[in-house]
Formats: sequence, C-alpha cells, structure tokens
Amino acid sequence: MVTATFRFYEELNDFLAPSLRRHEFSCACARAATAKHMIEALGVPHTEVELILVNGESVGFDHLLAEGDRVAVYPKFESVDIQPLLRVRAAPLRVTRFIADAHLGGLAQLLRLAGFDTLYDNGFPDDEIEALAASENRIVLTRDRELLKRRTITHGCYVRALKPKDQLREVFDRLDLAASARPFRLCLTCNAPLRRIAKNEVGERAPPGVLARHTQFVTCDVCRRVFWEGTHWQRMRALMDSVTHPSAHSGLTAD
Ligand SMILES: [Zn+2]
Repeated sequence: MVTATFRFYEELNDFLAPSLRRHEFSCACARAATAKHMIEALGVPHTEVELILVNGESVGFDHLLAEGDRVAVYPKFESVDIQPLLRVRAAPLRVTRFIADAHLGGLAQLLRLAGFDTLYDNGFPDDEIEALAASENRIVLTRDRELLKRRTITHGCYVRALKPKDQLREVFDRLDLAASARPFRLCLTCNAPLRRIAKNEVGERAPPGVLARHTQFVTCDVCRRVFWEGTHWQRMRALMDSVTHPSAHSGLTAD
C-alpha cells in the first residue's frame, strides 16, 4: 500500500463523499494503483476529468501512484486557465456529436434543434451507447455516473440539471457550444437534415391556413413532416437565441 494526498477541484467535488470535498485528504492506495483507478474509486468518473497534476506535474490516467504523491484533479473547462499544461487526452474534447442516455430525450431534441447530431433511443442499452460512442466519436450525455466509468468511453458529460432547457444551457456552457450551434438544421424527431421545399410541394402536409400565411417551408425526408415559422418555431427561436447569445438574454427565464 502507498498513501497519497488528493484534492479535487470545482464540480468534481459533487462526486466525492461529503467529508472529502474541497480540501486535501490522504488516501491509502492499492499497490500499483493508477491515477485513474483511484479517482474512480473515490467516485469521480474519468470522463469528467480534464487534468491531473501529481506533485505539480501533468500526468496521464495511467500514472502509477507512489508514496507521498500529491494529486490535484481538475474538471473539464475549469475557469482557471490550464491551456499551457498538458491535457490527459491527446484529442480535443470539442467533438460536437452526442449520444444521450434514456433519461435525456428532451435534451436530445433541444440539441438537435440547435443543430447538433444527437443519437437518442429510450431503448439503448448501456453497451450499445458505449459502442456507438466509440465507433462514431460521440460525446456521451448521461445522468448515470456508472456509465461514464466504462473504459472505452473517453468523452462524456455528466448532466446535473433536471429540466431539458436547463440541461441544454448546462451542456452549452460546459462544452462552449454557442459558436458552433446551427439551429433549425435537423429534424427534432429523426436527427435527419431538414431541407427547404417549395410551397407547391407541401400538399396536404400543412393546413390551408398555414399555406396561405407562410411562404417558407422545410421538410424531413425521413418522417416527411413539414415545418414552417409559426408560433412554436418562434418560441424555439427565442430559446436558441438565449443559449447562443447568453449575455443578451440574461434576464430570460426558462419555464
Ligand atoms: Zn423527421
């Protein structure tokens, strides 16, 4: 056994037992324990970790802990600037494709609304989420921290908020998505691209009153539904504006 000292920063503390939060503590580690093994044994999914410093030096997840090591663990996108330091992953985390777990259907639809390719099926077993995340380089969104501890999941985000609009703001904020949002590009139901169609192609897929009042229509080639800029669209536009230009809408409240 070796004894190392740990300190977790910012929201990583939420995963720790209450008595271990926001201060240094000593911990006995198994022989040949890696930094990743100990971090997860203490309750923190490795996908939440951006940077590990051991005795002041940046190390990888596979770093073997030695007697007396001082381990500092930082979350993704912590407010202090850690840019000059080596990250635990070689690839950047800003891949903007997602897979959402069964509890995040509302968030999945809002991410599609914002233009982010997001897989969601309330029947996806964890194994399939893990496999799709790896094969398609998708960021896993989940409220299940056990899922994020799986070894092959390298990019994941534990979603804290409970309501879909709050979850959208949280994910936008943590992953800095505002600049890469492309609203109204994907079908909310199918995750498929929307394309513009002429009014005479709409046919019976919109009521006559809508056809009379609107000139622009888009459709999804998977579900064949037609969309236009009605009142629902305008509410969605306001939500998109509030997440893509947060400072201009700081007074806006979500329902
Ligand atoms: Zn569709």
